[in-house]
Amino acid sequence: SDSKLPNVGTTIFTRMSRLAEEHQAINLAQGFPEFDCTPELKRMVENSMSSGKNQYAPMAGIMPLREAISEKVLKSYYRQYHPETEITITSGATEALYTAITASVRPGDEVIVFEPAYDSYVPAIELNGGIPVFITLDPQYQSVDWNEVRSKITSKTKAIIINTPHNPTGNVWMQADMQQLALLAEKHDLTVISDEVYEHIIFDGRIHISTASIPALAERTFLCGSFGKTFHITGWKTGYCMAPAAMTAEFRKIHQYLVFSVATPFQYAIAEYLQKPEHYTALSAFYQNKRDLFNEAIAGTGFIFRPSQGSFFQNVSYQNLSDDKDVAVAERLTAEAGVASIPVSSFYSKDVDYKVLRFCFAKNDDTLLRAAEQLYRFVWN
Ligand code: PMP
Ligand code: GLN
Repeated sequence: SDSKLPNVGTTIFTRMSRLAEEHQAINLAQGFPEFDCTPELKRMVENSMSSGKNQYAPMAGIMPLREAISEKVLKSYYRQYHPETEITITSGATEALYTAITASVRPGDEVIVFEPAYDSYVPAIELNGGIPVFITLDPQYQSVDWNEVRSKITSKTKAIIINTPHNPTGNVWMQADMQQLALLAEKHDLTVISDEVYEHIIFDGRIHISTASIPALAERTFLCGSFGKTFHITGWKTGYCMAPAAMTAEFRKIHQYLVFSVATPFQYAIAEYLQKPEHYTALSAFYQNKRDLFNEAIAGTGFIFRPSQGSFFQNVSYQNLSDDKDVAVAERLTAEAGVASIPVSSFYSKDVDYKVLRFCFAKNDDTLLRAAEQLYRFVWN
C-alpha cells in the first residue's frame, strides 16, 4: 500500500476506551485521571480568558511559563535552562517527543528504543525515515542490561529514547542507569530523548533522577515533560521541551511549523499555578495510596504483580488464570467483568505474549474498589 505507516491502526487507547464505553465497563485502560483539576487552577484559566489572553501565544510559549519551568527545574534538578533559548512550550509531551525526534532523526538513522514503549515513539521515528532498534524488556522488568544496549549501538545509531518513570511498566531508573546512559551517549555522540512526563508520580521514597541533573546528559538531551499528568489536565495538551540552545533552535524550527504555538489561556494559568510547589509535591503520596488500595483489593484474584514504582499504571500477570493472549483477555474482561485494561503486547513491536495487562489507577477510590471486586467475582465465579 501507499501508506506511510502501513502497520499503524487506531491506537489501543482509543480502541479500549471505545470497547469500555460499548460495554459500560470501568475504564482502567486509557491513562487519564477520573478526577478533575483543582478549582484554583480552573479559576486561573477562567481569569486568563476573561482578561483577554485569547490570541496566539509567542511561538516558544509565554515567558512567565518558561520562567516558572526554569525556576522549578533549577530547584529540583540543579540545572539552569534559559527560558529565552532552552525551553519551548509544546502541545503536550506528544508534540515535544515528535518534534525532538524530527529534529534529530534523518533517513537511515538508527534510534534505540526500549520496549514496551509508549506508542508514539516508533511512528515518529519511522515518519522521519529512521530505524527503531529495540531493546526488549519483560513487562515486569527489574533492570536494564547495559551490555545489551551497548551491543545494539552501531555507527548509524543517532539517538536513544528513554522514559522514567515508565509507561507501562512503572519502572523507575536509578542513578546507575543514568550514569551508564551518560557514558554510552558521550562515547557514541548520541542524542537522548527523555520522556519524563511521570516525574512527579514516584513511589516508596524513590526520587526521580532527571536527565537534567546529569550534566553529561543534559547537554545532549531533549527533555520532554507534560502538565497533563501532574495537574490532572490531560485534555489541556500542555507540555514542554528543554534542551541546550543549539538543539532548541532546531527544535523550534519544526515546532513553529507543526503547531506554531500552544493555547494561550492554559499557559497563563499553569504559569501561575506552578508558583506553589505543593501543587505537585503531594502527587506521589496521592497516587501511592491509590496504587496500594488497588493492589490490596486485587491481591486475592490470582493476578501476579510487583508494585509499580512510578507512573499511574500497574501491570499484572494473569499467567495463573488463563492461557489466552493478552488482547483476548483484555477484551473478555471488558465485556464480561466490566473492567477495561490495556494488553501490554500493544507496547511491543513484535508479536509477544507475556500475559500481562496494564491497569490505570488514576481513578477515584470507589471506582478502583468496584473494579477490583468485579475482577474478583469474574475470576472466582
Ligand atoms: N509519554 C508517556 C510515557 C505518556 O504516558 C504520555 C501520556 N499518555 C505521553 C508521553 C503524552 O503526554 P501528553 O498527553 O502530554 O501529550
Ligand atoms: N498516555 C495514555 C496512556 O498511556 C494515553 C494517551 C492516548 O490516548 N494517546 O494510556
